[in-house]
Amino acid sequence: MNIILFGPPGAGKGTQADHLVETRGWVKLSTGDMLRAAVAAGTEIGQQAKSIMDRGDLVSDEIVVGIIAERIGQPDCSKGFILDGFPRTVPQAEALDAMLDSKNLSLDVVIEIQVSEDILIDRIKTRASESAEVRADDTIETLIKRLGVYKEQTAPLLPYYEKQGKLKTVNGMAPISEVEAQIEAVLEA
Ligand code: AMP
Repeated sequence: MNIILFGPPGAGKGTQADHLVETRGWVKLSTGDMLRAAVAAGTEIGQQAKSIMDRGDLVSDEIVVGIIAERIGQPDCSKGFILDGFPRTVPQAEALDAMLDSKNLSLDVVIEIQVSEDILIDRIKTRASESAEVRADDTIETLIKRLGVYKEQTAPLLPYYEKQGKLKTVNGMAPISEVEAQIEAVLEA
């Protein structure tokens, strides 16, 4: 299966994607991880992306669509893939649909991990206070900025996938193992 794990920063998409990699043998495609690798390697894309990521804005659609197009064409993705953190804008979703069409592939389901804003802000604060390397207040600021970017640019994808009949929602405020079970139930349905 090919799926999207969808939700705001701090919803637990990465954790749930890792679990599905283990249990299902699918490939995790995280644009955030790929961009961080590009930054660490000092590639041209990494150099362009770094300051944008540091301030919590979105990297251009062109860059992330290019990264995904290249990755999705690799043979291991035929096992099934989990998109984590992509798409994040309507143009990215449209580009993804066109890309999958051209490869005779499709998305099976988009799973929204729903978490209320209060809980996200609490999680963000906990994360920031546990991070030793960065000044905690800077981190909180950036993460709250990312939440605003999510609401403005990424949440409009919910009606986009709803219209396609692909959207399913799970309660991301439950304990991790319960969220895993809810996702399993969606995948089995
Ligand atoms: P993440 O690890 O998914 O939270 O992504 C970390 C950062 O990478 C984001 O705050 C963005 O700056 C950038 N990024 C990751 N995925 C995308 C995407 N699909 N579109 C634009 N920027 C992205």
